[in-house]
Formats: sequence, C-alpha cells, structure tokens
Amino acid sequence: MDAKFEKQLDHRIQTNNARFRTELQRICSPSDINLDELKVDLDGQVDRFTNLASGWNLSSIKEFTIHIARYRPLIGTSYIPTPQPLINKRCIVNVENYFDENCFQYAILSAMFPADRDSNRMSKYEPHINKLDWSGLSFPVKLPQIRHFERNNLNCTVNVYKYFEATKEKKEEIIPVYITRHMHRKLHINLLLISNEVTSHYVWIKNMSKLVAKRTNGKHSTFVCAHCQHAYTNRKAFENHYEDCSRHVYQKIVYPTGDDTQLFWKARSKTESYQFCCYADFESYLEEKDGKEGIVNEHKPSGFCLYTAATNDFIFWTRLHGNVF
Ligand SMILES: [Zn+2]
Repeated sequence: MDAKFEKQLDHRIQTNNARFRTELQRICSPSDINLDELKVDLDGQVDRFTNLASGWNLSSIKEFTIHIARYRPLIGTSYIPTPQPLINKRCIVNVENYFDENCFQYAILSAMFPADRDSNRMSKYEPHINKLDWSGLSFPVKLPQIRHFERNNLNCTVNVYKYFEATKEKKEEIIPVYITRHMHRKLHINLLLISNEVTSHYVWIKNMSKLVAKRTNGKHSTFVCAHCQHAYTNRKAFENHYEDCSRHVYQKIVYPTGDDTQLFWKARSKTESYQFCCYADFESYLEEKDGKEGIVNEHKPSGFCLYTAATNDFIFWTRLHGNVF
C-alpha cells in the first residue's frame, strides 16, 4: 500500500510518501483472503509510522495492490516409483497406494508394523490402521500437520527429509524439512519425501545409514545426525556432536569445495584505527509539484549537521550544523 502523509511545518504543508507491506497469507481461492487481518496489520504499521515520525497525518491512499503467486506446498499424496539410486541402496519401504492420497498413513504403518514379505503392499498394513489416532488430519498430509499427528500418538516421533536426485550440476541431496520437538518416545520414524514433476510421496526410511551411505570412507553402518545428516562411524563422536547440533534449527550443511576452501585476509589497512572521522546528515522535505513531465515531488534541502570525531580530542574536534532555506 502506498500512502501519502502530511504535516504542518511553519507556514507550509510538508508531504511524505510511505509504502507498507503486510504478512503473507496462504489461500486456496481469492475468497480466502482475510481482509480483517490485512486491515489490522496495515493499521498497526501506519500507527507505528505516525508515532515514530511525529506530526505526520495520513492524507490519502495512493495505491493498494494485492499480489497473488502460485504456491506448491510440500505434501505427500499417492504412489511414486522409487528413484533408481534408492532402489540400489535398499533403504526405504515404498507402499504402493495408487488410488488414494494416504501415503503418510502407510509410511507410518510400514515403520510401526514392518512386514516380513511384500512390504510394498497396502494390504499388509490395512489391519493396523485403527491402532493409531488419525483424527484431525486431512489427506494428503501437509508437513505442519505432522505435529498434530505427534500430539495424537504419544508413543512415536517423526522426522521428514526431502530427497533430491543427483543431476549433471548437483549431487544427490537429502534435506530435513520436518524435525520432531520431542525426545525419548518409544519409537522414532524417519520419513522421506520423494517427488516427480506432479506430486510428492512419503516413504519410510528403513535404514538411514544406507540412505546416506558414501558420506564416510567406511563400509560399516553409521550414526546419522537427524539435524544435519552428518554420518559418524563412532558412537561417542556422534553423541558429542548431537548434543550441540540438536540445540540449533535443523539444516543442511554444505562445505565449500575447490578454491573456496581457503580464506585469505587482505585488508590489513582496516586494522588501523583512524585518527578522525566525520558523521554527516542532510535533511530535506518533499514539495509537491503539478505532475507535469512526470515529476510529482521535489526534494528541498532543510538542514544539515556535520560532526567530526577524533581519537584524541586535543588534535581535532568540530561540530557544524544549521538550516538551509
Ligand atoms: Zn548434526
């Protein structure tokens, strides 16, 4: 929103323009836009502006625009074939729910009630569906709803990672997109969100160590940090790391490669303190024009100040200020 403000200055009216932007809203149709929330947000911002720069009064709204952009949330729906690199690792269980959007449900059940054979079949898990509390969830399940699932089912915790297949430009990536806030529950479940051009799909990570294989030189199983996916061959080293890492927001860590691995300090001159420095401030006000030639306002100088500070007050000290009219 572009707004025009005015205030009385001596015998003149001074004008100023300001721009305000509201918080983002997620909507499914234009009728979902919460206009009351927009109004409260904008009123608050205008109040803060007039209180900060005392004397300004809202004169007019020059422009009010709502921008709408398409948003594709991370959401797990129905079956997607396992990407080839993951087939080779044999580290996930991918239940084939071709005809519904309940892949979150099947991924959780496949972890809680592992099948000895044909673990990709829905029929292996259907008898167990009512053993968990799915109330309040809408399918397909969006990531923020998982917190609700954890509140319903106090015996388990869930982490979700997003899988990006390797391309010519980039290596394979596994990025945490949901990490539980709870610890010490009976069962912890790691889910992987795999995607194609159209949709995404939750699968159970049966073996995290195999999923992140090739991160260490060893061929044995590893201890993988849920927050940064760093793999450790030594349990003690992993526990030391996890105590610190789990205090921070989960993240994907990328180390620099090639020439970026070394930093050089060049600006030696910046380590020397200056003998003196000047702080200058210049003020102006906007004078309204007739709009011809596309000019609607003109800056008019109104005052200035120059302050010089020295490391030694006996060497140099001055202050200069005044009005320009
Ligand atoms: Zn970590």
